[in-house]
Amino acid sequence: MEDPIQSWKNKKDGAQKALKKFTKKLSQHRGKRLDQFAADTHEKVFQNIDCLDCAGCCSGLPPIVNKTDAQRISKKIGLSLAEFKKQYLTIDEDQDTVFQQTPCSFLMEDKKCSIYEFRPKACREYPHTDVNFSKNLSYHAKNLLYCPATFHILEQLKKNIPV
Ligand code: SF4
Ligand code: SF4
Repeated sequence: MEDPIQSWKNKKDGAQKALKKFTKKLSQHRGKRLDQFAADTHEKVFQNIDCLDCAGCCSGLPPIVNKTDAQRISKKIGLSLAEFKKQYLTIDEDQDTVFQQTPCSFLMEDKKCSIYEFRPKACREYPHTDVNFSKNLSYHAKNLLYCPATFHILEQLKKNIPV
C-alpha cells in the first residue's frame, strides 16, 4: 500500500482545485448522514496514518487558544496568565487568539507535543473531520494542504458521494 503521507505530498497541489469544488457541492448534503459517513471515513483513514509521522498541523497551523486553554496551560507550565499571553499568544487576521509561532513552540523534535495532556481544545479536535464534519466544509477545503488525513478523507468522500 502506498504511504498515505507521501501520496498526499505528491497529489495535494494537483487535487486541491477539484476537492475545493467538491466540498462546495457537498454543502447540499450537510447533515447527520454526511457527518456519520465522514466520521466512519475518518476512522478508516486514521488506521493508516500516524500523526507522529506527520505533525503537519503543529508545524504549519497555529491553533486557536481559548481562555480556558490559556488558564490551564499557563498554570501547568508555571507562568502567570499575563506572561503566558505575552510569550506565546497573538491575535490572527480572523481576530482569533492563537499561538504566536509556527512550528508550535511545544512541538518537540520527535514530533510529540510537550504539553499533550493539557494542549488546547482545538488541537484535540483537529482535523475536525470526526464530529460535525458538515459545519466545517470550507475549513476542510483549506486544510487538505496541511493535513494528509483531511486530504484522504475528502478523496474517499468524493469517490463515494455523487454531487
Ligand atoms: S500545543 Fe501541541 S498539539 Fe497543539 S499545535 Fe502545539 S505541539 Fe501541536
Ligand atoms: S496534519 Fe493531520 S495527519 Fe498530520 S498530524 Fe495533524 S491531524 Fe495528524
